Amino acid sequence: MADACPPDDAFYEHAACGLLVAETDGLIRRANATICRWLGYEADELIGKVRVQDLLTVGGRLFHQTHINPILQLQGSVAEVQVEMRHRDQTRISLLINIVRRRHGDSHLDELALLVGEDRRAYERELLKARQTAEAALEARHGAEAKLHEMNEQLSLADRRKDEFIATLSHELRNPLAPMHSALEVMKLRSSGNAALEPVLPVFERQLKHITHLVDDLMEISRITEGRMALRCAPLDLGTVVRAAAADVAALIDASGHTLSISLPPQALVVDGDATRLTQVVVNLLTNAAKYTPRAGRIWLEAARHEGQAQITVRDDGIGIPQQSLASIFDMFSQLEPALDRSQGGLGIGLALVKGIVMLHGGDICAVSEGVGRGSEFRLRLPLSAAGIGADASASAPVSVEALRVLVVDDNADAADTLVMALELLGCEAKAVYNALDGLAQLAEFRPQAALLDIGLPDMNGYEMARRVRAADSGAAITLIAATGWGQSSDKERAREAGFDHHLTKPIDFDQLQTILTLVKQFQSPVVPKSGTDHHFRIF
Ligand code: ADP
Repeated sequence: MADACPPDDAFYEHAACGLLVAETDGLIRRANATICRWLGYEADELIGKVRVQDLLTVGGRLFHQTHINPILQLQGSVAEVQVEMRHRDQTRISLLINIVRRRHGDSHLDELALLVGEDRRAYERELLKARQTAEAALEARHGAEAKLHEMNEQLSLADRRKDEFIATLSHELRNPLAPMHSALEVMKLRSSGNAALEPVLPVFERQLKHITHLVDDLMEISRITEGRMALRCAPLDLGTVVRAAAADVAALIDASGHTLSISLPPQALVVDGDATRLTQVVVNLLTNAAKYTPRAGRIWLEAARHEGQAQITVRDDGIGIPQQSLASIFDMFSQLEPALDRSQGGLGIGLALVKGIVMLHGGDICAVSEGVGRGSEFRLRLPLSAAGIGADASASAPVSVEALRVLVVDDNADAADTLVMALELLGCEAKAVYNALDGLAQLAEFRPQAALLDIGLPDMNGYEMARRVRAADSGAAITLIAATGWGQSSDKERAREAGFDHHLTKPIDFDQLQTILTLVKQFQSPVVPKSGTDHHFRIF
């Protein structure tokens, strides 16, 4: 490496700065080749003949006398002073000078290092330009970030509005479904032997069920996105869930000509879960398996213990899922191209709902497929419960609701009247009124044993009416059922506080209503309830 260095002389002569040595009065003693080149002189034209100040412009000379020299005398050095020198051809050269005054033997000499100031200025200009460019880029980036933030806000707002819209839409769509369900019940009970009605009623029922299902799905997904879905968890055996789900889809599987194989472990797989919701999850997965598998396919449903967790697997040999869609398939409204023609009117929210419910249970779910045409598998995992299984509620034997007096209070006359008709066909003595005050008047007149109250009544809301019923003489014994379009837990809580015994969400599930009325009849009949049975039963 040392060989590669220039010899001292060459280094001195051709240094990247001009070098001068002068006596304290300015007479030049040495000058390197660099400064000679810059000024247009030969060294021997300068040495011993010219003083440093002779090379300066008039202004430079003045500055030398008033500033440079006194400072040198005072502190022995000056740094980075800017002066102008004259080239031999009289052009001006701007130079930056450092000077050190040093003792050599008996005398002092000034050692000067000179840099061309123009270069430094150009360099500083470049630096400034680069800084301005960087600042402009930074500002642009801040601007872009602010814009992105604003767009993000707008997107979140739009997303919130969409969620609110879906919640309101599903709620509004539910209202007209209530009277339609009741009307259908009436028609079904009256249609026997009617050749014109009998064939169309199943169509009506299927379509009504389908639309109710879609609206329910919409409602459920908005409950999940808005964090309003509350689970009613208890230790339960997943075997029960699997069996219930399989029974639920049996007709669909049959109609599609598929074969369903079920595998359950010998011992119970107990998780802390909401039986209804988990059954809904498995039903959704099985329904998809049936939908997205060509006729006469195979479906496998398995529950097993896997790596310390409970696992439910639903597998089919159907149309499969492309690799790149396996994760996004759980996003809301995601429907895949090859499946679209088979979606049979789905909205693409079933799997989003499934994932939401599974996650609320502290579990997870994933989809596996070897690709299009290679079948699909959904693996759902849930934490195992530490607790055992609680005693099953004993199913009550069917009891007739014959002659049970039921008051229906609803300002939607269609809904009230059709419900009364359906109740009458069951054998109840039912009566409809369309506002709360008329309803209260019926307490003494009609002496209802059960009353179904709409919450959104015109003269006072259903909660207030329930409080007044409870305060009335005969009010304590009446079974009060709230019927609302909203099924949030806060609504249910409010209903409970107001004195309701049950809460039903519209459209009213007629089977559920019938169960409640059966129990009302059972408890209000002279038969003493079985010991251990909770007399004050509630369906909330
Ligand atoms: P929907 O069935 O109403 O379209 P889902 O959320 O249940 O909505 O399913 C979303 C999409 O996932 C479906 O449209 C379909 O493309 C795909 N998919 C779901 N289950 C299966 C399956 N078992 N096999 C193939 N594709 C499926």
